[in-house]
Amino acid sequence: MKVINVTQGYGNSSSSHKLSYALDLGGKDAGKDGVYAPFDAVITKLYQPKDTKKQATTVWLTSTKKVLSPNGYYGYLTVSITHPEEILKMKLGTKYKQGDLICYEGKTGRATGNHIHLEVAKGKKAGRQRKVSGNYSEYVILNAVKPQDYLFALDDAIIKNNTYKKNKYNFIKEKDIKYKVNSKTGLNMRKGPSTKDDIVTTLKNNDIVLKFYNKNNWGYVYHYEKMGFVSNNYLSKL
Ligand SMILES: [Zn+2]
Repeated sequence: MKVINVTQGYGNSSSSHKLSYALDLGGKDAGKDGVYAPFDAVITKLYQPKDTKKQATTVWLTSTKKVLSPNGYYGYLTVSITHPEEILKMKLGTKYKQGDLICYEGKTGRATGNHIHLEVAKGKKAGRQRKVSGNYSEYVILNAVKPQDYLFALDDAIIKNNTYKKNKYNFIKEKDIKYKVNSKTGLNMRKGPSTKDDIVTTLKNNDIVLKFYNKNNWGYVYHYEKMGFVSNNYLSKL
């Protein structure tokens, strides 16, 4: 979404996301903000009940290729979006390019105001399971992971609110982790954070990489489908 406004998070006993990593995202003014494809995706599952006011309305989208995540994961992802306005118009197998408009936030499926209930899962499997704890139960996407660890915010997104009852959901933008290689002779990317580790590839001066985390003075970076460690001495923040 172009505005990130967490209106309900997980990890808090007073939310309705006690057993999931779901985030409720309301737009700018809880109005009609669009939801854009976070990656090239296809609709792999739909809940389209006849009575969209009483039952869950959810679309699952699975990436059509491997996706790079802010935490360095590189693999397939599935997301589910609940309460979309256009749920009854959606069709299995519809494909989207990254950035395409999928739907608008809505209030189908027992929602009090316009928002989406977002869940993210590792892998290609689209589905959900009912989790039970005492007399509380909740439907949770299969293979659930934390959304902000796996999805970037758009580079031009406005992060209006990323906290809910003291829990913070830190969305990272791709531009925040872009670095440039400064080495006239080339920079070795290695399997581990040491010059003793095998070389994966050699980066050229001015190559752009995404850096996910540091280990000692080595950064774990991505460059054109290759990932590994490079010395931080030869990287500068873009
Ligand atoms: Zn929710």
